Amino acid sequence: MENRHAWNFNEPLRKRTVIIDWLTTLWCNYRCSYCFQPEHGRHSKYIPRKRITRIINKILGKQISNHCFDNYPAKKWVENIQKIAEGRKAVLSLTGGEPFLDRKNFHYVLKSLCETEEVDNIKIDTNGSFAPEFYEDVNKEKIRLFVSFHPEYAGLEECFNKVQRIIDNGFKRWWIL
Ligand code: SF4
Repeated sequence: MENRHAWNFNEPLRKRTVIIDWLTTLWCNYRCSYCFQPEHGRHSKYIPRKRITRIINKILGKQISNHCFDNYPAKKWVENIQKIAEGRKAVLSLTGGEPFLDRKNFHYVLKSLCETEEVDNIKIDTNGSFAPEFYEDVNKEKIRLFVSFHPEYAGLEECFNKVQRIIDNGFKRWWIL
């Protein structure tokens, strides 16, 4: 059987798995004291990028948001990911902030990518506070949720209840971190 593994460098380049690591947003509805991000608000100016990039953007007068869908529409993100994935197997890792917070755009992205044949699986980091009912029409077979536990905002029981609600709404693959 052919080994289509991300680190099998004997495979022809175009057949290799492509791993897309996507920091979708810095928006978050929590404000954990131990968070690596200094800001979480929708209008915060903080963007984690190299100093040189910040300087170049300042010179060019480019305004870049800390939220991916402010920079480009969801449709454009999907189209470009599909272009990268063409002829390969794509594995996505989506993180934030809280990726589910912009639910209208995130719903579109998830639904589209889950229906994309080349996308093998999508790992999503979340604090679990989203409403899973909103994703009723998304095929969740390819989705793996990594639900992080944040005791400052939701105790153990609340965290388990959130995960139960997620399971009840069809997300079958999940882990609590
Ligand atoms: S849930 Fe995650 S991203 Fe949000 S404040 Fe807490 S540690 Fe930061």
